[in-house]
Amino acid sequence: MIPKDHPRYKSLIIRERLSKCAMSGIVSLEGLTAHGRGEAFDYLIGEKTTESALIAEKIAANLLILANKPVISVNGNTCALAAEAIAELQKITGAYVEVNLFHRTEERVLKISNFLEGKGVSVLKGNVVKYLPLSHDRALCFTEGIPKADVVLVPLEDGDRCQALVEMGKTVITIDLNPLSRTARCARLTIVDELTRALPNIIRYAKEIKERNNTTEIEEFDNFYFLQNAIDNMITRLNCALD
Ligand code: ATP
Repeated sequence: MIPKDHPRYKSLIIRERLSKCAMSGIVSLEGLTAHGRGEAFDYLIGEKTTESALIAEKIAANLLILANKPVISVNGNTCALAAEAIAELQKITGAYVEVNLFHRTEERVLKISNFLEGKGVSVLKGNVVKYLPLSHDRALCFTEGIPKADVVLVPLEDGDRCQALVEMGKTVITIDLNPLSRTARCARLTIVDELTRALPNIIRYAKEIKERNNTTEIEEFDNFYFLQNAIDNMITRLNCALD
């Protein structure tokens, strides 16, 4: 039982959820260590959404709404942390959702798909093809998903898959607390924010855009601005850590 007034309540609840999902096979043990890396960067950024991340979240909402065929790629950690939010984002944007795993077994894909469906997500099923030029199972895509997508949201992604998607001409949006990761540096748009903070913001913006029917052309943006801004924020916090 985690007391609500614990200063690290949210972080502890998330850890508890991840370990339960690791025990049920949704999250891999490696996924737990990836979460630890994310937590470390979140500490550095102050465990809150920065102004620049919020701008990136608004652009992401616009990109997803304007897309002809948006796809959200979900792995074990994303499923465990944000299945409900993925369902909501899918409803607003009409995005296809496909499960993509590094540690892939058919049993795990099924388990994650069932979990997502239980939270209201409509999950792509059917044939998979080795679509991406990668030597591991993250190359596999559902034929009706990523191969036909123009905009792909890949939260908590691997650098090599992100790069392969970019090279195939996809507009790749990622959510990654590490502004130095290969993924963060090669995506078209990187949201340097924690997944469970970022998704509700994207959903809110997507709703606003749809309600006002005011999708506008996406203004030019430079992803390096978002990365540099996140790094600058971390440096500032590190410099005054003992003040
Ligand atoms: P790359 O190959 O892009 O350099 P990596 O090897 O760091 O990335 P992984 O180990 O797969 O990639 O980790 C995924 C990334 O997700 C990490 O950079 C981590 O900081 C980030 N991350 C983990 N948990 C979260 C979270 N809850 N919200 C946002 N980002 C997260």
